Amino acid sequence: MQAEPVTRGLRKAAPRPDLFEVAHLSDPWEALTAELKPPMSHQDAFLEAYRCLLCGGPLTPAPCMLACPAKVDVPSFIGAISVGEAVEAAEIILDANPLGGTCARVCPTEELCEGACVLHSTHQRPIDIGRLQRYAIDQAFRDGNLLVPERPQHNGMRVAVIGAGPAGLTGAFELAKYGYKVTIFDSRAGTGGLVRAAIAPYRQLTEPLDQETARLWELGIEFRLGTTVDSSLREELESSYDSILLAIGMGEDAATGCEGNDLKGIFSSLPFIEKIKLAYLPDVKNKVAVIGAGNTAMDVAREAIRLGAAEVTVLYRRSEKEMPAFPVEFDEAVQEGVRFAWLTSPVRYEGNGRVNAVRCLKMKLGDQDSSGRRKPVPVDGSEFLLEVDTVIEAIGQLPRKDFLFAIPGIELNSGLIRAASETGATGNPLYFAAGDALNGGATVVEAVRMGKVAAAGIDAKLSERGGAK
Ligand SMILES: Cc1cc2nc3c(=O)[nH]c(=O)nc-3n(C[C@H](O)[C@H](O)[C@H](O)COP(=O)(O)OP(=O)(O)OC[C@H]3O[C@@H](n4cnc5c(N)ncnc54)[C@H](O)[C@@H]3O)c2cc1C
Repeated sequence: MQAEPVTRGLRKAAPRPDLFEVAHLSDPWEALTAELKPPMSHQDAFLEAYRCLLCGGPLTPAPCMLACPAKVDVPSFIGAISVGEAVEAAEIILDANPLGGTCARVCPTEELCEGACVLHSTHQRPIDIGRLQRYAIDQAFRDGNLLVPERPQHNGMRVAVIGAGPAGLTGAFELAKYGYKVTIFDSRAGTGGLVRAAIAPYRQLTEPLDQETARLWELGIEFRLGTTVDSSLREELESSYDSILLAIGMGEDAATGCEGNDLKGIFSSLPFIEKIKLAYLPDVKNKVAVIGAGNTAMDVAREAIRLGAAEVTVLYRRSEKEMPAFPVEFDEAVQEGVRFAWLTSPVRYEGNGRVNAVRCLKMKLGDQDSSGRRKPVPVDGSEFLLEVDTVIEAIGQLPRKDFLFAIPGIELNSGLIRAASETGATGNPLYFAAGDALNGGATVVEAVRMGKVAAAGIDAKLSERGGAK
């Protein structure tokens, strides 16, 4: 039988009979933490590495490497695994991406490196690059080998990084390698930002964030966790640091503002997931409505199934074509039993103490709006009631406008920081920026890329100035 032709970015996940069974395991915690991409055995890793054509070279980088925002040299690390040199492979990965172990677990590889694998053109299964990357890093970390680069001599300059998420950790790591004394500030008690707080537990609970953080610590980076940078601390940082990297991510969930949202059983996506990550399992009952159809909505729908909900319906006011979720995420959600109500918008939550229904309106698509997508328009007289006992709103995150408005010279575009794409420089010469705070929310590996760009931008600026202030 001939395999289906593959179109990059539009690929659907291959049907996996085990997905439904795993998602519906009787123990919710087991279902929530059963990894979608489990680790490889030595034998599987060798066999998979041998399948790789190791394409590319110095003048013609391999498509998988070009598709990786962090520019991990995929053929070289897979070549190292194929000759039994897993630690050398880990070194290659971590050199390009200090969150290489996290990215191996959470990257949408189908859209990136694996999506670009040349084996697609011969209708073969792409190389399992994500799991090979995980294999290499796990091997190194398991032996206690953190592969910390040598501590460079301190160049006399200090940089403050606000935010210990992927953008901040990467920016800090690169700056420390250049010789800067770096301090990272984060409101949270742990590092990793949304990786620790929001990424679905069946992709990554926490491991290997602690080892990845330990590498930064070993490089001499100072952590001030549990410390929110407010206006007065920010002014202190401005007078005592040579540069400041803003890696503050996005803020709390946007809300639909539907009437009745104070009823019991209505959740916002981020606190819902954060609870799960801390093993406090939310009470979702039987019938769940998820509002929104982005990647976060797919995650909470799949988490609700794992928590034991019998019926999970995603309500989206546009059609499947406009859905922002990656096709592979949508497809896997369908395989796990999530239902979709397209062109459906909630107008009111109803109930007595606890929500028992969502009053919905059917929509049709009108003219294009400023996002280039066709605008949903209500259909007159189309109201109907959907019986539910839980609602999870997942319609995106709000920018941290209040914090940013207070910084002189920082320019914003709908609350997102405007910064030079090739340096991360903002309108205030002291500040550089990276990550979700610029793009409104993308992927961990994109935040890693931006952290590297901003670190290089800071280094170029401070080297030009030539010395501490
Ligand atoms: C539900 C969900 C699931 C996701 N799943 C995936 C996935 O599977 N794969 C993937 O690649 N990406 C995923 N993402 C996206 C990914 O998590 C983000 O793109 C990435 O974490 C962005 O990194 P960041 O460093 O820019 O911001 P964040 O990770 O948000 O980190 C910002 C940090 O800054 C801190 N901070 C903010 N303001 C201050 C202040 N004033 N003082 C001190 N600290 C401050 C915050 O506490 C936070 O820790 C997901 C996102 C969400 C919401």
